[in-house]
Amino acid sequence: MGGLYYVVRCLKCSGISVTRARKVHKCPFCGERVTINDLTVLHVTNEARRARQLVSLLKERRSMPD
Ligand SMILES: [Zn+2]
Repeated sequence: MGGLYYVVRCLKCSGISVTRARKVHKCPFCGERVTINDLTVLHVTNEARRARQLVSLLKERRSMPD
C-alpha cells in the first residue's frame, strides 16, 4: 500500500518539499524538524509522481495548480 505524500511548506525557510512522515518532518533545505500539524500542508496525494510534479509547479508558480 502506498500511503500518502504530503506536499508541505517549511515555516522557517518556506522551502517546499514532499514528506511521508506521519509525525515529524525534517526540512531538506534548512534542517528544521517540525511536526506535520505545524507545517503548511499544500496538498496531499497518494502518488509519488504527482507529489513531485506539484512541488515543481509550486516552486515555479507559488500557487495551487488545479
Ligand atoms: Zn526549512
